[in-house]
Amino acid sequence: MSGGVLTASYIGATILFILALGGLSHQETSRRGNLYGIIGMSIALIVTIAGVTANIVILILCLLIGGSIGLVLAKRVQMTEMPELVAILHSLVGLAAVLVGYANFMDPDRLQHYAGVELSIHDVETYLGILIGAVTFSGSIIAFGKLSGKISGNPVLLPARHWLNLGLLLVSLWLCVKFVDQSAAGGGTMPLLIMTGIALVFGIHMVMAIGGADMPVVVSMLNSYSGWAASATGFMLNNDLLIVTGALVGSSGAILSYIMCKAMNRKFLAVIAGGFGTTSGSTAGSDEEQGEVVALEAPEVASLLEEAKEVMIIPGYGMAVAQAQHVVCDITKLLKKKKVNVRFGIHPVAGRMPGHMNVLLAEAKVPYDIVFEMDEINDDFPDIDVSVVIGANDIVNPSALTDPNSPIAGMPVLECWKGNTTVVLKRGMATGYAGVQNPLFFKENTRMLFGNAKTTLEEVYAALSK
Ligand code: NDP
Repeated sequence: MSGGVLTASYIGATILFILALGGLSHQETSRRGNLYGIIGMSIALIVTIAGVTANIVILILCLLIGGSIGLVLAKRVQMTEMPELVAILHSLVGLAAVLVGYANFMDPDRLQHYAGVELSIHDVETYLGILIGAVTFSGSIIAFGKLSGKISGNPVLLPARHWLNLGLLLVSLWLCVKFVDQSAAGGGTMPLLIMTGIALVFGIHMVMAIGGADMPVVVSMLNSYSGWAASATGFMLNNDLLIVTGALVGSSGAILSYIMCKAMNRKFLAVIAGGFGTTSGSTAGSDEEQGEVVALEAPEVASLLEEAKEVMIIPGYGMAVAQAQHVVCDITKLLKKKKVNVRFGIHPVAGRMPGHMNVLLAEAKVPYDIVFEMDEINDDFPDIDVSVVIGANDIVNPSALTDPNSPIAGMPVLECWKGNTTVVLKRGMATGYAGVQNPLFFKENTRMLFGNAKTTLEEVYAALSK
């Protein structure tokens, strides 16, 4: 393939990726954004494969194996398992960067292609690629464990952990100098191997130290790291498209991390340093200390909704678990017919991945114009007759605002208790992801509807339809 066609295709793919990111930032344009991304990636794959001259059979074989695994996984994965899937996919990007880095380093022609300053630059690229890749790889595996509940969500805080991190960073810098020195003389394997070990430990330590409620930032941060790892791979392979695409993912992940931090009222560096989300800090107390909960039956909730003028639905992780979004949409339509104004309030960290609730509501075809971000509707609660909290917990926990010792202290929450009545749908009195008890359930104007959210909402729908 001629260089001109390749460059033109790469520029076209880059533009499509930028349009994809632009499209994905709004619900109305997200489908179009996805389509741009798919076309861009197809162009990138086709021209890259067309440019390969040697080992084409191995390449096609690997593509078929990888593609089939991806297809089966994507078909099998439940919506609730998406965050874990995303985390494990990030780990693969990290692993790829590490493997490409080592392959680059072991290339027998390396010393013939590069010499002097060029060789040093190439070696630093390889070193950084492996470093970022290894941190992303091990960090993402721990994130996968935490998100799937295989590893406890509580932060693991080693004594003098900041010093440990600083020490690891300084040793890595020293090893980089050693690696570049020794590589020119045909060596460098040892510093590279030691650094890879350090980077793997650093990734594990960094994510282990971050507490439950701060996990959204970890997910977006690892997303960003995977982008930088891909970009580093692009430098190693001299592939401009990979450099640009990696930089796009890296910077959009960094922006998302910033948005998440702002939503949770955390400082980015404080989250990375870890320590939030320790359950021992909670002073919420036991159920007996909190007071009594008042439980309702589904028909009673249906009457409350029918009599209301303003209803706010607050979905959380439990709606995803129960797959209740379709019946929620049906109830919304029914209430609208009965002239009840129904809106949705979405917390930025609701669920288990950024935009989780928006995706579910879009899947159920809830109209976009009644779905609002927390900032847009949080002041409206005093005018709300009934708030329906569906499988949400941490995002409606008043202790975030009132208890400075709470692990989620300072995180803005949806202040539904300021409305007339709040109905909370959940199966029992279990805590949410951050492991904190929720005083909302014991408030005078709160009612509980216990059970699997899909089942109880179907009962509410049946009662409303009568
Ligand atoms: P929470 O995890 O705080 O609460 C979910 C609640 O849903 C639980 O208390 C559970 O109670 C209930 N539930 C579970 N299954 C069902 C079901 N089938 N039917 C009815 N209820 C159910 O979720 P939130 O959305 O309120 O908050 C998100 C939390 O996750 C925050 O702490 C956030 O920091 C964290 N997080 C968010 C990420 C993101 O990117 N958005 C990523 C990682 C973590 P019960 O068992 O009693 O039913």
